[in-house]
Amino acid sequence: MDAQLDRIFAASLWVALSLAAAGLSAQLGLAWMERAWANNLRSSAQRLLGAGLSLGTGVWMVHVFSEPVQSAGFSQGHAPALEWAVWALAVSAAMASLAWLDAAKARAARWLPAALVLGSALVGLQWLGAGASAAPLHLGMLLAAWGLGVAGAVSTFGLFHRLKGQSQSAATWYRAGASLAWALAIVGSQHLIALAAPSARVPAGPGLVSGGVLIVLAVVLGGAVLSGLLLALRRHLKARAAGAKARRALGSKLLNDPLTGLPNRQLFEGTLGQAVQRADASNQSLALLFINLDGFRPVNEAFGHRGGDRVLGKVASRLRALSGPHMAGRLASDEFLVLLQGKVGVEQASELAAKLQASVSQPIALDGRAATVSCSIGVAMYPEDGAQSTLIRHAEAAMRAAKSAGGASHVFFEPRMLSGVRDDVALLRDLRHALARGELELYYQPKIHAPSGEITGAEALMRWNHPRRGMVSPGVFIPLAERYGLINELGSWVIDEACRQTRVWRDAGLRMRVAINLSVHQLRQPDLAESFEEVLRRHQINPELITCEITESSAMEDTEVTIRVLRQLDLLGLHISIDDFGTGHSSLAYLRKLPAHELKIDRSFVLDLETSEDARKVASAVINLAKALDLKVVAEGVETEGQNRILREYGCDQLQGYLFAKPMSAKALALWAMHDVGPRTMNFRSSLFRESTQLSIA
Ligand code: C2E
Ligand code: MG
Ligand code: MG
Repeated sequence: MDAQLDRIFAASLWVALSLAAAGLSAQLGLAWMERAWANNLRSSAQRLLGAGLSLGTGVWMVHVFSEPVQSAGFSQGHAPALEWAVWALAVSAAMASLAWLDAAKARAARWLPAALVLGSALVGLQWLGAGASAAPLHLGMLLAAWGLGVAGAVSTFGLFHRLKGQSQSAATWYRAGASLAWALAIVGSQHLIALAAPSARVPAGPGLVSGGVLIVLAVVLGGAVLSGLLLALRRHLKARAAGAKARRALGSKLLNDPLTGLPNRQLFEGTLGQAVQRADASNQSLALLFINLDGFRPVNEAFGHRGGDRVLGKVASRLRALSGPHMAGRLASDEFLVLLQGKVGVEQASELAAKLQASVSQPIALDGRAATVSCSIGVAMYPEDGAQSTLIRHAEAAMRAAKSAGGASHVFFEPRMLSGVRDDVALLRDLRHALARGELELYYQPKIHAPSGEITGAEALMRWNHPRRGMVSPGVFIPLAERYGLINELGSWVIDEACRQTRVWRDAGLRMRVAINLSVHQLRQPDLAESFEEVLRRHQINPELITCEITESSAMEDTEVTIRVLRQLDLLGLHISIDDFGTGHSSLAYLRKLPAHELKIDRSFVLDLETSEDARKVASAVINLAKALDLKVVAEGVETEGQNRILREYGCDQLQGYLFAKPMSAKALALWAMHDVGPRTMNFRSSLFRESTQLSIA
C-alpha cells in the first residue's frame, strides 16, 4: 500500500514537473511571439527562433519527464541521436507552425490549420520519442492523444490571437490560459501515448543514456536553454523600453509643434499607426479628419503674423478640447488632423466634424477685436477608405473637395476625389487660365522619311509653361483636362495654333506636313469637322498638309461615332494616323473600316527592338499588316542607331525620335530647316521649300 502511495506521489511529482516545464516554456514562447508585433524581418526571425526553441524544448522536457511515471525507474536506455532528433523536430515543428500563424493574421480559417499541424506533429514526435512499439496498439488511446494534442494547440493559438489589442491585465490572463492549455495538452497526450502502445523497453547499455542521466540532462540543458531565452528576451525588452523612453524625452521636444503644442506630422503618424494596429486587432474603425482653415490669410493680413499665430493657437486648443489627448495634430500652417477611434461610424465622424466646425468658427478675441475663421474638413474612414499609408492623403483630397464646394463644410472621402496627382485641384485651377495667359505652346518634333532620311513633317506636341512649376508634361495635364472637361477648349486651340503655324511656315516657303494629336473627347464633339474646316479656310491651309493623330485605344472607344467622325475628317481631305499602335486591342476587321492613312508603332515596341526577338516580330508584323492595308508606317521613339537600322530594314516609312530630334519650338525648327542650325545635320526635303518665296522666320 505504502509502495503504491509512493508511486502515486512520485508520479504526481513528475507530472507536476512536466506541467511546469511545458507551461513555463509556453509562457516564454508566447512572450517571444508577442515581441516585435512590429513587422520587420530580423525581429520576426528572432521571435520565431525564440518562440520555437522555447516551445520545442518544453515538449522535449515533457517527453523526458514522462519516463519515470511509466516505467517506474530510470533503467531504460535512450539513444542520444533519437533524443536530439525529438528535440530538433519539436523545435522545427513549433517554428514552422508559428511562422504560419505569424503570416496568417487574425483569421481563424488560416491559423486553425497551423494549430492542427502543430498538434499532430507533436503527438507524432511523442510517439517516436516514447519508443512505442506498434503492438498491441490501442487505437482509441492514440486517437485521444492526437485529439488532445490538437485541441491544446488550437486553444493555445486561439487564446494567443485574442491577446492582441487587450489591456495588460487581460493579456496576462490570456497568456496564462494559453500556456495552461498547452501544458495540459502536451502532458496529457504524452501519457496517453504511453497507454496507447507499450514502449519497447531497452535496458541501458553501451551507447545508450540511462533515464536518470537523461532527466538530469533535461533539467540542466532544458533549464539552460529556457533561462537563456528568458534573459535574451529581458534584454530585448529593456533595450526597447530604454529606446522608447529616449524617444519620448526627445519626442516632446522634437515631435510637438512649438506654436500650438500639438503633435507634429511625424508624431501624429506614429499615433495613427498605433491606432490602426489597435483597430485591426479589435475589428474597429477609425475616422481621420483633415482640417484646413478657411479665411486664414485675411486674418493674417488684418492682424499680422502674431495675430495669426494666436488664432492658430486658439484653434489648436479648441481642436484638442474636442478630440482628446494626442488625437489632434498640426500638419502645416493652417492644416490640422484629428483622429477618432473606437466604435466609429460615419455618423460619429460627422458629428465630431460638425462640433469642430462650430467650435472653430466661434469668434476669437484679438486686441479688442474679433477674428473669425471657419474650416473645411475632409474625412477618411479606416479601413474603408484605404490603408494607413494613404489615409491622410485621402482625407486631404476630401478636404479639398469641401473647399472647392465653398468651404465651411465637411466631406467624406470618395475615390473619385483622387485624380492621381496630389495637387490636381491646384493644377486644374491654373490650367483653366493657362490658355488666356498664353502659357501654352506647341512644340514640333520632326518626322523623317526613312528611305531618304529627309525631314518631311513634324508632330505638334503641346507644352505648358507653368509660371511656378516650369514645363508641365502633356502626360500630366492632358488627362486632367480630359477628366475635367477642358480638353475641347485646349484641343481647339491646338488645331488653330498648328494651322496658324503651318501658314506661317508656308509663307516662309516651308511646306511641312503637320500632325495634330486629337483626344477621344474631341472626336465626340459633334461639330469637330465643321470647325476644323473653318480653321483650315481661315488660315488657307490645304488639308493635305495636316495629319490627325488618334490613339489606337481612343479609336476603339465608341467605334461607331469614331468611324463617323473620322470619315468626316477624311472627306475634308485630312490625313488620319493611328497613334500608339499596338497598345490598344483593335481587331483587323475594325482597322479595315477606319479611314486611316497611317499607323504609328508605339514607342514600347521600338524600345526593345535591339534586345527582344518578340519586339522585332511585332514590329515586322505591324509593318507588314500596314502594308497589306495600304497604310504608311511611322515608328515613334527611335533613340538609337540600332533601332533606326532595324526599322529601315523592315521597310518602315517614317521615323520619329530623339535620335533625330527632340520636340522643339516652331522657331527652332524653322531655323534648322532654313539655315541648318539644328541638333544634327539633316536634309529637309527640297520639296518642302518653294524656291520662289523669300525666306523669313516667324
Ligand atoms: P504621342 O502622340 O505618342 O507623342 C509622342 C511622345 O513621345 C511625345 O511626348 C514625344 O516627346 C515623345 N517622344 C518622341 N520621341 C521620343 C524618343 O525618342 N524617346 C522618348 N522617350 N520619347 C519620345 P510628349 O510631348 O510628352 O507627349 C505625350 C503625349 O501627350 C503624346 O503622345 C500625346 O498623346 C499627348 N499630347 C501631346 N500634345 C497633345 C495635344 O496637343 N493634344 C492631345 N490631345 N494630346 C497631346
Ligand atoms: Mg502623337
Ligand atoms: Mg505616340
